[in-house]
Amino acid sequence: MAVQLVREWTAIQQFPAATQEKLVDLLSKLKNQNVNTLTILVMGKGGVGKSSTVNSIVGERVVTVSAFQSETPRPVIVSRSRSGFTLNIIDTPGLVEGGYVSDQVLETIKRFLLNKTIDVLLYVDRLDAYRVDNLDKQIVKAITDGFGKDIWQKSMVVLTHAQLSPPDLLSYEEFFSRRSESLLKCIRQGARISKMDAQNYAIPVALVENSGRCNKNEYDEKILPTGSPWIPTLVRTITEITLNGKKSILVDRKLIEGPNANDRGKLFIPVILAFQYFFVIKTIEKWINKDISRDTKSPWG
Ligand code: GDP
Ligand code: MG
Repeated sequence: MAVQLVREWTAIQQFPAATQEKLVDLLSKLKNQNVNTLTILVMGKGGVGKSSTVNSIVGERVVTVSAFQSETPRPVIVSRSRSGFTLNIIDTPGLVEGGYVSDQVLETIKRFLLNKTIDVLLYVDRLDAYRVDNLDKQIVKAITDGFGKDIWQKSMVVLTHAQLSPPDLLSYEEFFSRRSESLLKCIRQGARISKMDAQNYAIPVALVENSGRCNKNEYDEKILPTGSPWIPTLVRTITEITLNGKKSILVDRKLIEGPNANDRGKLFIPVILAFQYFFVIKTIEKWINKDISRDTKSPWG
């Protein structure tokens, strides 16, 4: 078994005092509920700001950030502890390669997670994207097939590049609500969450601005265009998901090797072929035979 290096979370002191205070408060809330370990999994497309978000949460540059795609193809776990509490954050490579969801990347992530328990999934995308397409749905579907639908009960959407000026006449709030609504709709479709079940899968959305040019308030906290400091809000949402009463996702062998929805579909292929043979081909044969017998009776034959 690989030795997992757990360092003291000293970088928490890098945060401005106001942020630190809120973070310590949230951590003690978790400890009061007997949560001593928290494992966060970060997934999404490449280049959306997954690694930057990991660095922002930990408060130091722990994983590599790159403007151009040269990501390490492997997941990385970063562990930090503070007064008996351990925070694990798992950064992963982008799930899309050459315009398709990469099964291979997903497989690597699953194997990396073997015997680990995911308490919270951060599904990362950018706020400043104007459309949601079929590829997004495919990513959600792949995550659902790989980890089970219930992972969405332990998930939140993180929208990076939050310091933007919305186009045209849209207010910031309106832009945010439209972007998150379309992404949430895409997640519900990709994960096959019905309208009736949507309440059971309420997925929170948080805004993030990883840039060093992020605006700050009078307490030196990084703030969103709305004026609210985003790091405490993000960590509070993570805490709420941790304590939401739904089960964390244990990645065991059964989950890794079990047939996913796609493979289960493949089991039906012989049945469909047999159906085609007996019903379609036999019917056509019958028609042809009928035609032949009619032909022989024809007066021109
Ligand atoms: P990943 O591929 O999803 O891990 O994305 P990275 O964290 O490596 O980020 C890709 C690029 O986007 C880098 O150049 C980052 O500096 C930049 N970036 C990430 N998050 C933000 C953000 O919130 N705002 C801005 N302006 N740039 C960001
Ligand atoms: Mg990365």
